[in-house]
Amino acid sequence: MGAVVDAAPTLASNENTNGGLSSGKKVTVVFVLGGPGSGKGTQCANIVEHFGYTHLSAGDLLRAEIKSGSQNGTMIQNMIQEGKIVPSEVTVKLLQQAMEESKNDKFLIDGFPRNEENRAAFENVTKIIPEFVLFFDCSEEEMERRLLNRNQGRVDDNIETIRKRFKVFIESSLPVIQYYSSKGKVRKIDAGKPVEEVFEAVKSVFSSAVKNAQ
Ligand code: UDP
Ligand code: MG
Repeated sequence: MGAVVDAAPTLASNENTNGGLSSGKKVTVVFVLGGPGSGKGTQCANIVEHFGYTHLSAGDLLRAEIKSGSQNGTMIQNMIQEGKIVPSEVTVKLLQQAMEESKNDKFLIDGFPRNEENRAAFENVTKIIPEFVLFFDCSEEEMERRLLNRNQGRVDDNIETIRKRFKVFIESSLPVIQYYSSKGKVRKIDAGKPVEEVFEAVKSVFSSAVKNAQ
């Protein structure tokens, strides 16, 4: 595939929540953030069913990249095992590709951006500004309990890596949430409750987002 040269985006086109991809496709993005085990994946499945978004889990895309035997596979595997954040260029490219390939134009990006560098790289490359940021707020105690009980065979769901992931979340990911909070973009959900109750709160966020867009 030849390189697609971006028509220089005008400032105006970047001010709203519609971003551009190199193909020229316009998309709407919601970032879904929260600590490991806060319920991002579970709630995204519900949102997909009710609101017609396509779910893109950054972690799942990275795990698929390992499985596909890509050049970066070993590096990604090592980072995940240590709970560290994979370089933005890898993750941004995977997300961009997934959005280009999808027929949909509405995406839930789950578990990304994980640090300020991720956030800046995504914005610079895609020019996409999120519609809003859904933040699942949950205590470490509850998240730890869920992660240790979920048994999905993940190399990072052991107590040593879980502790590292919590530390990375607090040090690197919370500043991203603070950044979007300062822009009035964060919709915070109490995620320590049962799945159905959390989804009620999620639904009211998406319902008012739909109203505001009309
Ligand atoms: N990861 C990353 N960048 C991302 C998303 C995930 O480096 O944008 C890595 C990181 O090592 C993280 C792991 O993948 O600890 C698992 O991420 P996932 O979102 O699947 O886990 P969750 O936090 O939802 O339990
Ligand atoms: Mg997840």
